[in-house]
Amino acid sequence: MTLQLKDPGLLKTQAYIDGQWMDGSVGDSFEVTNPATGDVIARMASVGAAETRLAIEAAHRALPAWQAKTAKERSAILRRWHDLMLAHQDDLALIMTSEQGKPLTEARGEVAYGASFIEWFAEEAKRVYGDVIPTFANDRRLVTIKQPVGVVAAITPWNFPNAMLARKAAPALAVGCTFVMKPAKETPLSALAMVELAERAGIPAGVLNLVMGDSASVIGNELTGSPLVRKVTFTGSTPVGKLLLKQCAESVKKVSMELGGNAPVIVFDDADLDQAVAGAVASKYRNAGQTCICANRILVQDGVYDAFVEKFTTAVNALKVGNGLDEGVTMGPLVSERAVREVHGLVEDALAQGARATTGGSPDSRGACFYQPTVLTDVNRDMRVFREEIFGPVAPIFRFKDEAEAIAMANDTEVGLASYLYTRDVGRVWRVSEGIEYGMVGVNEVGISSEVIPFGGIKESGLGREGSKYGLEDYLEVKYICMGGL
Ligand code: NAD
Repeated sequence: MTLQLKDPGLLKTQAYIDGQWMDGSVGDSFEVTNPATGDVIARMASVGAAETRLAIEAAHRALPAWQAKTAKERSAILRRWHDLMLAHQDDLALIMTSEQGKPLTEARGEVAYGASFIEWFAEEAKRVYGDVIPTFANDRRLVTIKQPVGVVAAITPWNFPNAMLARKAAPALAVGCTFVMKPAKETPLSALAMVELAERAGIPAGVLNLVMGDSASVIGNELTGSPLVRKVTFTGSTPVGKLLLKQCAESVKKVSMELGGNAPVIVFDDADLDQAVAGAVASKYRNAGQTCICANRILVQDGVYDAFVEKFTTAVNALKVGNGLDEGVTMGPLVSERAVREVHGLVEDALAQGARATTGGSPDSRGACFYQPTVLTDVNRDMRVFREEIFGPVAPIFRFKDEAEAIAMANDTEVGLASYLYTRDVGRVWRVSEGIEYGMVGVNEVGISSEVIPFGGIKESGLGREGSKYGLEDYLEVKYICMGGL
């Protein structure tokens, strides 16, 4: 099946190295399928260690000239990239929905969200300032300057195939780093279309390179092992993040890790219940629950528990499941059959231990990658749905008695990315926001993501921040210069 794009030139299937589109040296390939239909939509060139080395060397060669441009010159190129992404929003969204499954409106939203990082960092990088430090000796003057870290390698997941890449590439390129990226095998087409637009925007050969392949670990070993790569930035699962951290330790690289979450949504007795239900449903079922900041555990206080479950189940039953390309669909398929098996394993574990599904609870008959939107009650902390990231459309609703128990339950996990609470008590807003161990807290709000905020987690959710001025710092080194002989 071919995609009906307005601009067919955006459909690329080869790797992009040093400004050239190329196949792997041994001619290997892999397929990309549409999870809604099972159709193969493209056959991709699969590259390995040799091509990854070429990409790293190209990025290293391109570094001096890219670094030598003024921030304003780089900014103008990035601005054109941003404009081109928005001009091709429909095609980029169609590619994304076809390879990843999310509804077309969500895909359009992600393209705009991804582009917003490019615009924002293109501007912000003009304001990378150093310091003049009051001296410790009269014959010396002390300054700091900030310099790009060098060649950056980025490894990204399939759940946000555009935005996860944009929010790494934008700050890196804006400050003068060069870039080698490896998108997820499930969703390379979105990344390649972005690269095509980057080339049209005037990003020079070697500055931005893309490698992809059947074996993530072969490419990963090269990226983490090369002394030419000075930073690895990764978004994905916590186990793979830990592995990459170990690999990076060998050459002491800078790292940013955006890893898994287990977000609590805490609903107190005094919350606006309709607002809480709407927020929790939006947070849980967006992208079919395949979001690292998705509501993973819904914690509801005794007094409103039954009313919440009833309203929440009614709202979930109103979701329209189907092919993300069809009008009015609000939840698409999961990314793969494997994802369906994993999600169903978590549900079966809960049901076997006494949980009850007020709706859903099984794979969906629409296709091999579909799962029914599911709500579980009578759940407890021993079940896997409490401990593990669900990454699917399943909402377990837990009961708590008081604020102290809510905080203890929220913190009873090794990860700490996003969290949410619903209450109208201002004192409680502060106590709970300060008491829970998370990088991000949404108060009476689940729409927390933006290019202007520091996105990231604590504990095993990762290291570093993306977006905002903090996201820029992660691509810069501070150099101290002491000037004597005065
Ligand atoms: P994953 O860790 O399996 O894969 C992520 C990327 O790593 C893919 O490109 C994959 O090919 C690559 N990869 C896998 N093994 C590798 C290896 N040995 N060496 C090098 N690269 C390797 O994760 P996933 O299933 O694709 O994504 C879902 C996970 O990502 C979830 O845990 C989710 O919470 C997390 N996530 C986190 C954020 C965040 O910002 N914190 C955002 C989105 C997703």
